[in-house]
Amino acid sequence: MKTRLEWLRNSEGWLRSSEVWLRCCEGWLKYWVVVVVVVMVVMVWGCGMRVTDKPDYAIAIHGGAGVILKENLSDEMEKSYLLMLDSALTTGENILKSGGTSLDAVEQVIRIMEDCPLFNAGKGAVFTHEGYNELDASIMDGSNLMAGAVAAVRNVKNPISLARRIMTNSVHVMLSGEGAAEFAREQGLEMVDSSYFYTERRWNDLQKAIEREKQNNHGTVGCVALDNFGNLAAGTSTGGMTNKRWNRIGDTPVIGAGTYASNKSCAVSGTGHGEFFIRYTVAREIAALMEYQGMTVKQAAEEVIMNRMKPAGGEGGVIALDHDGNIALVFNSAGMYRGMADSRGNRQIAIFGENNGIMPRSNQPGKHLQ
Ligand code: ASP
Repeated sequence: MKTRLEWLRNSEGWLRSSEVWLRCCEGWLKYWVVVVVVVMVVMVWGCGMRVTDKPDYAIAIHGGAGVILKENLSDEMEKSYLLMLDSALTTGENILKSGGTSLDAVEQVIRIMEDCPLFNAGKGAVFTHEGYNELDASIMDGSNLMAGAVAAVRNVKNPISLARRIMTNSVHVMLSGEGAAEFAREQGLEMVDSSYFYTERRWNDLQKAIEREKQNNHGTVGCVALDNFGNLAAGTSTGGMTNKRWNRIGDTPVIGAGTYASNKSCAVSGTGHGEFFIRYTVAREIAALMEYQGMTVKQAAEEVIMNRMKPAGGEGGVIALDHDGNIALVFNSAGMYRGMADSRGNRQIAIFGENNGIMPRSNQPGKHLQ
């Protein structure tokens, strides 16, 4: 049994040591409060950054660049283009919104545009000098630099899907002509008779181009996307240039010229005079300027399209999207069928230069539309 004295001594001791302990804690408590406050501030700031600065997803599309003037486009045609751009963009947005990948968004958006006779890709492809339709396409995965490309196929309904199969199911990057068609058949892709690609409008374009001994282009399609996982992808599909000869292949299936994607920098899809895009390695050059010179996506795209290609006589444009969701829609031609959207509610669809032809219900672009 403890005596009363012992008990008091003990409890006094206990009181003293608990006092010391509490004091200690008080000292530490100050630090803990500071640590907790700092962590909370960082978390709130981090969340704020995510909401305000980096969209969860972003997407841009194009339907070709060139001499696209309001006076040459009937109201009805203009409306059809705007509606098609809107529907393709909405498809991409829905895929990304529901957690789909940027590659899926790019492929599906381009398939829709390939199936539409308005664009120079798939169904609406232009004719070669000899009266065929030879289709080119490519796709690139920015997360691992894998790429697939197809050139000069005549019977594949959706060349963008063939490009993706080449990327994922073959050991090659680019296939062409009959060999590419054989691979498409093996992969179970939809094949069509060459008459599927006949459209009166493109046939008439060929007759005019032959008369003038000229090559025209219009309506190549492309898409760049950033998904919820932070991965970029790019894809492009085209019939090439009206009146092209000798199995000419343009920039569209050339990785680094008409298409490029790297999570390190940006995703790019180009449209315009392909020979210039190849010689100026347009898509890769934009990425390189960002990587090595620290340019923004807008600065890099403008540098290449406006300052390098334009003075040399190269007409065209690009849609480019960086890993932070910033979008640049840059062209040196009169117009470019184009659209962009992101998870922050920025949305725009346009055809001509400046703000002409912007779809009325679109939101005004925010700072992500550079
Ligand atoms: N760049 C494509 C080509 O030269 C044509 C276009 O974009 O309109 O094949």
